Amino acid sequence: VIDPGHPSEINSGRKVVNGVSELEANWLTALRLESLLQKIPGLHVVKTREKRDVMMTNQDRAKFANTHRAALFLRLHCDAGPGHGFTVYYPDRTGKHKGTVGPSAEVITHSRRAAQCLHAGFRHFLGKTLRDNGIRGEGKTAVGGMYGALIGSIYSEVPTATVEMLFLTDPFDASLVKSPDGRDLLAHALADGVKRFLALKSPRPRTNP
Ligand SMILES: [Zn+2]
Repeated sequence: VIDPGHPSEINSGRKVVNGVSELEANWLTALRLESLLQKIPGLHVVKTREKRDVMMTNQDRAKFANTHRAALFLRLHCDAGPGHGFTVYYPDRTGKHKGTVGPSAEVITHSRRAAQCLHAGFRHFLGKTLRDNGIRGEGKTAVGGMYGALIGSIYSEVPTATVEMLFLTDPFDASLVKSPDGRDLLAHALADGVKRFLALKSPRPRTNP
């Protein structure tokens, strides 16, 4: 399951920075990634929504991934702030949101592996182009700092990772995602990470009886 980030209850993603909105950057990269992943035999690829600009809560995004029993709930975002480059986040601890506690220890373990694979894909395709900010626990994000994990991760019953592909606030980073060739590179990095994860021996948690 590919989740193009925004619009959500946290942020619309519609604000234009350096000539592109996060909503647009995530959506266009997701479309390219989808077409790459559809070439993998036996892999069923779905996006959390079929239209570019539809509000969806983070809880509903997780429920969508759970309903599809996703091998991976992959969330695409772009960062903002003083930095630049790519960062891969995963839930490294249980969080709590509106009384719901999650994700499970097993989901955390598999999400960490997914984050490592996605990070390897980014290093391979973009290590010389973008700064590598490494793999981080979601507690280091603003939302994760409040709830312990991202809201979508708290409700996720499947492995999940969030890729902050680059910083839209950085002019160079933004120029990459604005160009079709740049998005192609981002999509190849993501697809490579997905392939690495799917190739692991037991990439998905056992389903509860
Ligand atoms: Zn975002």
